[in-house]
Amino acid sequence: MTARQVLNAQLVVDCGEGRASGRGSFTYTRPPRARYDCHRCGTREGPVTGPDAVIRFVAEIRSAHRDRCTAQEHRT
Ligand SMILES: [Zn+2]
Repeated sequence: MTARQVLNAQLVVDCGEGRASGRGSFTYTRPPRARYDCHRCGTREGPVTGPDAVIRFVAEIRSAHRDRCTAQEHRT
């Protein structure tokens, strides 16, 4: 394995911190966040904050950004 790896993009997820506060409820002291850095076009997507937003962001950002990435040339 080589230690050097070229990343076209990086998805960064911060799971946040919090504690269970009763039956089935959870209180965040630091809400989860996510952002997406595209190194091809230099765009940063997000960050988004909150568990629901983070889940949606992680699920959709790769394909969503690919559609609007300004560095569309794909090297072959
Ligand atoms: Zn891009």
